[in-house]
Amino acid sequence: LVSRKKQQNNTIVDLGGELIGDGQQRLIMGPCAVESYEQVTAVAKAMKERGLKLLRGGAFKPRTSPYDFQGLGLEGLQILKRVAEEQDMVVISEIVSPSDIETAVEYIDVIQIGARNMQNFELLKAAGSVNKPVLLKRGLSATIEEFIHAAEYIVSKGNSQIMLCERGIRTYEKATRNTLDISAVPILKQETHLPVLVDVTHSTGRRDLLLPTAKAALAIGADAVMAEVHPDPAVALSDSAQQMDIPTFHSFIDQLKESGLYK
Ligand code: PEP
Ligand code: MN
Repeated sequence: LVSRKKQQNNTIVDLGGELIGDGQQRLIMGPCAVESYEQVTAVAKAMKERGLKLLRGGAFKPRTSPYDFQGLGLEGLQILKRVAEEQDMVVISEIVSPSDIETAVEYIDVIQIGARNMQNFELLKAAGSVNKPVLLKRGLSATIEEFIHAAEYIVSKGNSQIMLCERGIRTYEKATRNTLDISAVPILKQETHLPVLVDVTHSTGRRDLLLPTAKAALAIGADAVMAEVHPDPAVALSDSAQQMDIPTFHSFIDQLKESGLYK
């Protein structure tokens, strides 16, 4: 069902009035993890100043180590909902458990399925059974074909509001946290009719590479770019090395605009 052969027209996903896949390239930004109401509000306010509405933030954090910060859970979703209402934002947050999908839809606008869960088929089916857009990330070592099959699981349950997100894949290269597979963008756009996003933060794991990779993503035709912003990355409870602070966020937007790649 997600194949371009089945549907020629691009799928446009409506995120609370912000369309993804309509030709206008958008930015999805926000902290790695929801840490507090104040933290999320600070980022949302900065985004609002720049006309951005698509706010991301993890409440359930699938961390490599069980001893790392696991997220605020339901409290995190409640913070996101409150900030969304107060700052007029559209919120995107990762859900890791099929049993949380029903609850999550009351708090968030977009369900994110993370890289580690790309082949959690029960989660994919649960996300496919609700009427909410889904942001599906490519698995850590997933082929493009496996990624497309994961999307097919969601659509097969009736939910066709899916966005695919390239977020880097595991290779032998150690200079970056993952290797951004930039060619996945045009391939996914040829093979499917779904919008394709690029997450530059998790692809690179390096703050100094966010701007050049975001430019590359826009130049190659990504429908949106995702990047993480934190009011004080040095004390962030996750992904401290790659989140932008607020001044860097502003210069990131300025430089994308100056490049002519982002309108
Ligand atoms: C995230 O976007 O918060 C995240 C954990 O990313 P990924 O699933 O791509 O590692
Ligand atoms: Mn992160």
